Amino acid sequence: MHVTIITAFPGFFADFLSTSMIGRAIQNGLISVDVLDLRDFAPGGYKQVDDYAFGGGGGMVLLPEVLSRALQAAEGDGGESFVVYPSPQGDLLSQEIVETLASKRHVVVICGHYEGLDERFVSSRVDREISVGDFVLTGGEIPAMAIIDSMARLVPGVVGKESSVTEDSFFRGMLDHSHFTRPAEWQGREVPEELLSGNAAAIERWRRNDAVERTLSRRPDLIGRANIRPYLPAGVYVVLVHHPVLDRQGNRSTSAVTGLDLSDLARSCRTYGADRFLVVTPLASQRELVKTMARHWTEGWGATANPDRSEAFRIVKTVASLRGAVEWIEKKEKTHPLLVATTAREREGSIHWLEAKRRVLREKKPVLFVFGTGHGLHEDILQECTMVLRPLSGGPGDYNHLSVRTAAGVVLDRFFGWR
Ligand code: SAM
Repeated sequence: MHVTIITAFPGFFADFLSTSMIGRAIQNGLISVDVLDLRDFAPGGYKQVDDYAFGGGGGMVLLPEVLSRALQAAEGDGGESFVVYPSPQGDLLSQEIVETLASKRHVVVICGHYEGLDERFVSSRVDREISVGDFVLTGGEIPAMAIIDSMARLVPGVVGKESSVTEDSFFRGMLDHSHFTRPAEWQGREVPEELLSGNAAAIERWRRNDAVERTLSRRPDLIGRANIRPYLPAGVYVVLVHHPVLDRQGNRSTSAVTGLDLSDLARSCRTYGADRFLVVTPLASQRELVKTMARHWTEGWGATANPDRSEAFRIVKTVASLRGAVEWIEKKEKTHPLLVATTAREREGSIHWLEAKRRVLREKKPVLFVFGTGHGLHEDILQECTMVLRPLSGGPGDYNHLSVRTAAGVVLDRFFGWR
């Protein structure tokens, strides 16, 4: 990570760059931060870096020519850099923005002061304006420190234990769990007994639950973009139902298994961390067909020809009915799963996916996502489900004919995609 700060007040950064983790990271060569004094690029004996704003009003504006010279020096001969201007009018700083900045080869942060930078310089040379909140500070130095500090934490080795970064708030989209230190009892308040138990599984469970409770109560808005898989205490399953489904006329029917559905859904399940992909068909010959295909990809020639597909097919399992799938999960998990069904039709009682996502987190049970083939799941199946998601839609009209493979990809990504 290489950052250059351009500032008219370099003194701000002396302690910041020599203290604690940032100081150590610079000393150990994990990050490099240069500070350029804007006044070194100002002409004349007065080293003037600003001037009065056209139109009056009294405020001073940083001169574009001085800024340009400083930026040229920051970029050196390499020329390639990503220029950030901390500004109350920029995009609100978030973990996603920090991750984007951390992936850049060289970031130049230009600190404003007074009324800010001349707009012609901003529009021609700045790649991104970033705000640290809806309030106004006297200068860009404190936001620059926030940006650099948050970027540095993502560089391996800067924060002592790698896990403390990955468990921090926002890293996976959720808030962090609460933390306690000695003494175990302070002013009559005790540390949760699980944390004192020495039982790694119990500690992990307590922390996961605490992070979920805190996020649900304090920042439920975060759940939409979070991958909740690491926060679920039990398994995630996907079932593809071939009976009973609807035919074109809306009658109860049985659809045929297709290789495309099997292969694509298995890969989506594997990608998003589902434990098993269950294929429901009451026809023994169709179950046999699925097993033959799975054997081809897991044991036969396909296993060496395409190891990725082999890995996906290893989680495929056939079952005769949805009831059978649920019983198999119950036996494995020792509890009844939540059944989350999907349908392309508007239906009374169906819920928004975000509401379903919050409920799945709250209920702490195994989850079974139920997808239908043919023209959708029969009402008998929907009746067995804990919740039915509202139809996926997007375009201007009411056309929403997605393949089950696409629908499954979208739903799994909403629940278990990294952002
Ligand atoms: N006239 C500007 C406005 O109202 O948008 C405010 C200028 S402010 C007094 C001076 C400098 O402080 C800005 O150029 C910027 O670099 C920095 N700054 C102030 N508030 C900030 C914030 N919330 N986020 C990022 N930078 C900020």
